[in-house]
Amino acid sequence: MEYSFDRFDFLEVLDSSTEGSFIHDLELNEMYFSEKWKRRLGIENVPPKETFSCISRIIHPDDVMGVHIEFLNTVKSKLSKSQVEFRVKTQDSGYVWILGQIKIIYDQAGKPIKYYGTHIDITHRKQIEKYHVKSIEKYRKLMYSMDDMFCILEAVAENGDSPVDFRLIEMNPAFERHLGINTADWTGKSVKSAIFRFGDFLYAMLVKLYYTGEPGRTVYESKMTGNTYLVKAMSIDEPEDRSIALLISDITRDIKMKEMEKTIKMHEELFANISHELKTPLNVIFSANQLMEMYLKAGSNNREKLLRETGVIRQNCYRFTKLINNVVDLSKADAGFFKLDLKNENIVDIVENIVQSVAEYVREKDINIVFDTDVEELIIACDALKIERVMLNLISNAIKFSDPGSCIFVYVMSKQAAVEIAVQDTGIGIEKSQLDLIFNRFHQVDKSLSRNAEGAGIGLSLVKSIVEAHGGNISVDSAVNEGSIFRFEIPAGIVEDTCDTDKNLKTSSRVELINVEFSDIYNWDQSAD
Ligand code: ADP
Repeated sequence: MEYSFDRFDFLEVLDSSTEGSFIHDLELNEMYFSEKWKRRLGIENVPPKETFSCISRIIHPDDVMGVHIEFLNTVKSKLSKSQVEFRVKTQDSGYVWILGQIKIIYDQAGKPIKYYGTHIDITHRKQIEKYHVKSIEKYRKLMYSMDDMFCILEAVAENGDSPVDFRLIEMNPAFERHLGINTADWTGKSVKSAIFRFGDFLYAMLVKLYYTGEPGRTVYESKMTGNTYLVKAMSIDEPEDRSIALLISDITRDIKMKEMEKTIKMHEELFANISHELKTPLNVIFSANQLMEMYLKAGSNNREKLLRETGVIRQNCYRFTKLINNVVDLSKADAGFFKLDLKNENIVDIVENIVQSVAEYVREKDINIVFDTDVEELIIACDALKIERVMLNLISNAIKFSDPGSCIFVYVMSKQAAVEIAVQDTGIGIEKSQLDLIFNRFHQVDKSLSRNAEGAGIGLSLVKSIVEAHGGNISVDSAVNEGSIFRFEIPAGIVEDTCDTDKNLKTSSRVELINVEFSDIYNWDQSAD
């Protein structure tokens, strides 16, 4: 190989360099470094013949071997260029990382005679690399130790007509624990073709994120595991890198805990309300009892007063019974034990009979009640006793919140696959904001608006449970000072009759039922005998 070289010109160039530049003449064993670099390495007074061995001494002991081996291998392979990273001791900052790059000059026989090159300080880059490696390690540790499922996906860009797809790049072992997924089998697979076990919604979420950059968040109930998951998807790179992180947390326990807390709170409220409501009739019974004792002690001519007090006791026993019946039924509904005794009944008869039975009571309040129907007979599967309770609840509310002289309308309307029953009044009405709330347990728009009527705020929630148990629904329309209309629908199904239908509730039972259901609004002091 032809080579001509004016060493002294080159040395001048070396000195002007701020990086570490050098030339090593192997035949003379003389090594020349740029002045600044020599100063940095603390070898400014070392003669050229000793520079090489001196450099070898200031290379980090762990790296010396690597540097020599790299040089020998390059020469052995007759390569002209080589580079190696190593640490060298400097005067100003101790060991620094160097990228050494050389070009070797061979003679015609292939013997290396010179090499020249550069030393570049790469300490900063090395620090960044180290920090990077460390943060990757930290991220991996976190990813592998977390209980939530975490994976990285990469978008596989659209290709002509084929839509965007996503490939699983990395998955943590939580997938194995939660879903029994062998992560090794799944890594590298396409989300779409592998039909990722979370179903189509996940793909839709990823596509949205891909096109809009908007992070996604969905609560998903898996039929496969029966558990509920919170799934979050977010971009973790610049948009063009198309990397997406998915975090899937099993929130089944949290939800159950919240439900339990809600149930406990509801039960606490229920007990507080029940004990409060039970105290009202109980106190009345106690007072009536005290009065009766007083009248009895006072002599024998207090028959009228005694009778009135037994009436008060009876009415409050009915209130007691109503409250207990309602509470028992609500608890049954809560626990899913609310069973209907379904029989094929003429719903028109049931509603008409109940209206007739209460007509006298209603008129006593100077209120009129009108029944209307668009069919004579409509046989549907229902629990007659429970429908009577619904009707009595709605009618008793209509009475409670109406003024004397007003009218209550009850009507039955046959619909295509259902029957609609409505109770309408022209009473005080309900504010719009309250309409959704009145079906909640113990909700009363305003206790003071209950006027002379006592109530516990349970009636409508029970009515709703009964209607829903029939597969129906209930709604209310109302305007303040104009009145309210409660409509409920029951599907017009038929059951296979197992025994004779007890078409009409025995009159004595109905009277008892009315006494119980209307106990809030009537005094039975005259009916005590
Ligand atoms: P309550 O025993 O208090 O009547 P309900 O559950 O039957 O309990 O009713 C809840 C609340 O809904 C009542 O307290 C009342 O504020 C309101 N409400 C129900 N029906 C009517 C109605 N027909 N007119 C006006 N307000 C009504």
